[in-house]
Amino acid sequence: MEVFFLGTGGGRFAIVTQRRRTGGVRILSGKVNLHVDPGPGALAYSVEQRLDPRKITGVLITHVHPDHANDGNVMLEAMTGGAVRRQGFLACARSVTRGNETADPAVSRYHRKLPSRVAELKAGEKVSMDSVEVEAVKAVHYDPDTIGFKVKLPEGETLGYTSDTEYFEGVGEAYRSVDLLILCSMRPRGAPLKWHMSVDDAVKILEEARPRRAVLTHFGMRMLYDTTPQEEARYVEKVTGVPTQAAEDNMKIKVEKGRSLTEFFGGG
Ligand SMILES: [Zn+2]
Ligand SMILES: [Zn+2]
Repeated sequence: MEVFFLGTGGGRFAIVTQRRRTGGVRILSGKVNLHVDPGPGALAYSVEQRLDPRKITGVLITHVHPDHANDGNVMLEAMTGGAVRRQGFLACARSVTRGNETADPAVSRYHRKLPSRVAELKAGEKVSMDSVEVEAVKAVHYDPDTIGFKVKLPEGETLGYTSDTEYFEGVGEAYRSVDLLILCSMRPRGAPLKWHMSVDDAVKILEEARPRRAVLTHFGMRMLYDTTPQEEARYVEKVTGVPTQAAEDNMKIKVEKGRSLTEFFGGG
């Protein structure tokens, strides 16, 4: 499995400044080509980084906020070859396609009809589409439908993506022993924010989940200006013992089931 970070910024200030990109995460393994949380820039940065968005086989969206869902419609158009072939799947929180009391839908009624399968998931639900197992994990965020994802690929690698959530007891359980856990840790140590994850929360999640390795991403301005993500990642690794790194825009990592491999760092 290869994981490519097309964006590592989170929150509205990262969006409007593009201090860090907000394009989301691409997961590649054999024929599987998944895009998780297509925020603003997902389409443009995919093309720029030569990750042809027409090769996407599934789009996963954890909640309705723009830094996670803004480019959802255009990624679905790309996945279906310009809305001409009904193919691929969309797995998402219910708010993404239906809206809720806090927000309108992020994916339009027209675009919801494009993929060959759409799974609107609530926490705890699990589906299998094109040999990819997708499990929705509970998250506590101000879109009440927000979910995290646990993904199992056909070759057996497992990956967790927390999305935006504050810490609550047991949040790490669902991600137990995954090969890679991606944490949307927007805030640094000592800077908690209701409904969001700080590095202190990330530590608690990792202590429950004990993944084989972890990557911090989705950085807000406090993370980028009050400290550095690298420094926070070093702290997390030291206190949890879980190999942890801070994501960079255009960073690509290789993850194998049962053992970790080389990292390649790109520019940007
Ligand atoms: Zn976010
Ligand atoms: Zn959010």
